Amino acid sequence: MAFEELLEDPVIQKYLHELVGPKGMPVAAAPPDGEGTESYRRLRDEDSGWLTYLWTFEYDKVPEQLEEEMHRLLAGLDERREYEQTHEFYLCENCGIRFEFGEAMDVGFECPQCGSGLETMENTRLVDAMEERIGALRDELNVESVDVEG
Ligand SMILES: [Zn+2]
Repeated sequence: MAFEELLEDPVIQKYLHELVGPKGMPVAAAPPDGEGTESYRRLRDEDSGWLTYLWTFEYDKVPEQLEEEMHRLLAGLDERREYEQTHEFYLCENCGIRFEFGEAMDVGFECPQCGSGLETMENTRLVDAMEERIGALRDELNVESVDVEG
C-alpha cells in the first residue's frame, strides 16, 4: 500500500498527529524567518513573460530552532519505531482505538467503549512509513544511520 493511502487511514492519521504534533510535519515546508536566510532564482518564461521563483532551501541557513525541531522529531520517531517493533497491539475496529497487549488483556480483549472484540493489529505498514520518514530526515539533516543501512 502506498504511503499516501496509508496517511488517509483515519486511525493512522490520528496516531501520526499525536506523534509529531500539529507543528511536526510542515516544518520542512515552512519558509525561513528573517532576512537573507532564503535564496531563490528568478526565471522569466520567454513566451508568457511569467516569472517563476525557484526556492532553494539550504539547511545550513535554516534557523537553528527549526533544525533542532527536526532533530527532536527524528529522535522521537526513532524511539517510537522501536516501541512499535517491540510491542503487540490490538484494535477495536468500531472505535479505531488501539490497545497495547497488557491493556487489551486488562479489558478481557473487549473494547471498553462498545464491547466488541479486539483484533490483533498488524503495524508493519506503520513501521515502514516511519522508517521511510526517518530515512528522509536523516538525509536532510546529514545524520548517519547507526544501523545496517547502506
Ligand atoms: Zn469499540
